[in-house]
Amino acid sequence: MTGQKYVVVGAGPVGSLAALYAAKRGHDVEIYELRGDLRDPSTTPLNFTKSINLALSERGINAMRHADQQGLLDHVVSATIPMRGRMIHGKRPSGELYEEPQDYDIHGRTIFAVDRAGLNTRLLDILGAMPNVKFFFNYKLTGADFKRRKAWFEVRNQNSPSGRPEEIEISFDFMMGADGAHSAVRYHLMKFTRMNYQQEYVDTLWCEFQIKPKEGNELHDQKSKFRISPNHLHIWPGKQFMFIAIPSEDGSFTCTLFLPGAEFANLEADPSKLPTFFDQHFPGVTSLIEPSELISSFEENPHLPLISIKCQPYHYSSSVVILGDAAHAMVPFYGQGMNAGLEDVRILFSILDKHAAAENNNPDDPGSDDAEYQRGMALAEYSALRVADAHAINDLALQNYVEMRASVLSPTYRLRKFLEEFMSVHLPSLGWQTKYSRVSFGNERYSEVVAKSNHQGKVLLRGLIAMLCSPVLVGGLGLYLTQRRGSGSVPLLDVIRNLTRR
Ligand code: FAD
Repeated sequence: MTGQKYVVVGAGPVGSLAALYAAKRGHDVEIYELRGDLRDPSTTPLNFTKSINLALSERGINAMRHADQQGLLDHVVSATIPMRGRMIHGKRPSGELYEEPQDYDIHGRTIFAVDRAGLNTRLLDILGAMPNVKFFFNYKLTGADFKRRKAWFEVRNQNSPSGRPEEIEISFDFMMGADGAHSAVRYHLMKFTRMNYQQEYVDTLWCEFQIKPKEGNELHDQKSKFRISPNHLHIWPGKQFMFIAIPSEDGSFTCTLFLPGAEFANLEADPSKLPTFFDQHFPGVTSLIEPSELISSFEENPHLPLISIKCQPYHYSSSVVILGDAAHAMVPFYGQGMNAGLEDVRILFSILDKHAAAENNNPDDPGSDDAEYQRGMALAEYSALRVADAHAINDLALQNYVEMRASVLSPTYRLRKFLEEFMSVHLPSLGWQTKYSRVSFGNERYSEVVAKSNHQGKVLLRGLIAMLCSPVLVGGLGLYLTQRRGSGSVPLLDVIRNLTRR
């Protein structure tokens, strides 16, 4: 199935990786991108005042690992900062500020803060050096006919004599739509397939801030540029609100304020209230960001909505598929949007490869006649497999907002995390892990993660009920833990502290 014309719409992280996978398989790849070339400093990424830092984790890394591109992963990972856990910020009743680390993983695995533009640029550079890849920047998809395999693009920096942008028509064998949450490919796909579609705006807006690096003679090493720990994702949980900070290589932190719309409206009416609001809900932030800067960032940076989209199927016939945010935009609270999109690419191509191999193994007709038929089969298999997983991570992302802004402080949450990690270390044969570990450090299907985590939850609940009802079991556990204390692996006091720690 080589030598086909693959058109990718959207040169974000997902479209760029999809283009790389296609180009590596020998297809002629054309990439059409609404905006200018990201590598041109005058191009501002949509929605962001500058490039933002995202959490990259195993699924995104694995997708790059399978791109068959020497050096890609090393290059991307070398520019990341490992984050070993959350750092919860708060204020004790005495007024004292505290920071409390919560590791993501008992085995010490980390997620990575990555500059979105850096990752994207690396992919564009690799694609730019490939003879079978062509870029079309400032081209906006305006129409598509997936039966005739034709598409229309507005050329944004080229006006016709009438003053309207020029439009061009192209043909293709296969289109991959990676054009983000407001996907035009998805919009046109809906006219060709009976797509179920659901979108939800959550009652939360977000706005970006920045903690600047330290300056001057106080800097002894790279790490001392950071005003707070560089190896954590910092959270100021506010029950209904949340402020987070993710480290950047230059010592700064990209920060995001998440608030319900009504709270934003209150603050927009009088931004001078912002420092007091922060002191009340996010203690300590005003010593990291000057109050005047808080106000100016709030006034200058956009206040943006969060959308969660579910749809199915993701394809039509053998001519088009949607990937990444175009297929499953999600709220950012699990740090999985981009990771899931990159994973889409790996899974899609593993299925396409399997069907291409079947076509080539056909002794009656080895070659290209079957190409479209096999791709159609592959796309149907991809939609059938991936929809359940994309829906699962969309739901997990919505649920994680509650975890990040409130549950991280709850004893029940800590108890469950502790017990699941305890089982993972002391009874590894049971294969227990926390949900977070399965999502962020593994490649199991998201739908299986949910099923396994629900099962663990039920077993834990039954175990706890049985324990509470059985003095013998409580005595036995006490004895076991005391003995383990002797071997130094599970000090009883640690257990009690983990259960009761605030
Ligand atoms: P996009 O990045 O949206 O790229 C789509 C591209 O298509 C754009 O370049 C756009 O210009 C182009 N395009 C759009 N329309 C057209 C058209 N008609 N014609 C041609 N081109 C078009 N994800 C994580 O994994 N970890 C995180 O920590 C994380 N944090 C986040 C924090 C915030 C505040 C937000 C908002 C998102 C976060 N995400 C995170 C999600 C992540 O940003 C997205 O999932 C990811 O960018 C999706 O990549 P994409 O390539 O599918 O789409």
